[in-house]
Amino acid sequence: MSTESLRIVWIYPDLLSTYGDRGNLLILARRARLRGMPVETLEVRSDQRLPATADIYLIGGGEDGPQALGAQRLLADGNLHRAAAQGSVVFGVCAGYQLLGTSFFAKGTQYAGLELLDLASDRGPSRAVGELAGEIDPRLGVPALSGFENHGGRTRLGAGVSPLARVTAGVGNDGQTEGAWRGKLLGTYSHGPALARNPALADLLLRWATGVHQLPPLDDRWHDQLRSERHAAVTAAARV
Ligand code: GLN
Repeated sequence: MSTESLRIVWIYPDLLSTYGDRGNLLILARRARLRGMPVETLEVRSDQRLPATADIYLIGGGEDGPQALGAQRLLADGNLHRAAAQGSVVFGVCAGYQLLGTSFFAKGTQYAGLELLDLASDRGPSRAVGELAGEIDPRLGVPALSGFENHGGRTRLGAGVSPLARVTAGVGNDGQTEGAWRGKLLGTYSHGPALARNPALADLLLRWATGVHQLPPLDDRWHDQLRSERHAAVTAAARV
């Protein structure tokens, strides 16, 4: 951690915050505070500079226009690159995931991404809308991914990243893999919000940010019940 409190930044709530993705900020802050960690949350609008030294940066999903504008402003700002180079955690969802790569398509035009992750996004044959589930890379120690997806893009992963998950329902990157990660940078197509539906993923980001490998367990009975109900519904729907 860079200071005595955990600093979490929500990037561009005015552009990139679809499907309740701000919930990721609330979940991270809540799970940290329940463990006695002081937390400072910052919501940085697209006409403001990002801090270069926060611990966790969150980027949500967005429509094509806001996504293109957000990527241009983040490139011009430069502080997300500085933070990532210094070991900050970056978590991107959908549009916020695509723009971490080398390029993406928005409104039929190819845009440069931030090149923080070795991946590129194209337009897919159809919009991927619905439940998204997958088996997460076992090295991350996180149970099955649960989420909701709504995107037109498809993502090709390069050799410099690992898939976050192997798809068991939905589309994700390409119907086979979903999301990507490298070091402390992680992206996913999963809304829901992702960290509310996958509290173990929130704890992974907290472990990365704090360097604390054994976080005190929390009472996750409600999460676990909702996750198993959702898992059963998605599995039943896949059988129809
Ligand atoms: N505009 C992007 C796409 O359609 C991302 C959409 C989103 O963030 N939900 O692929």
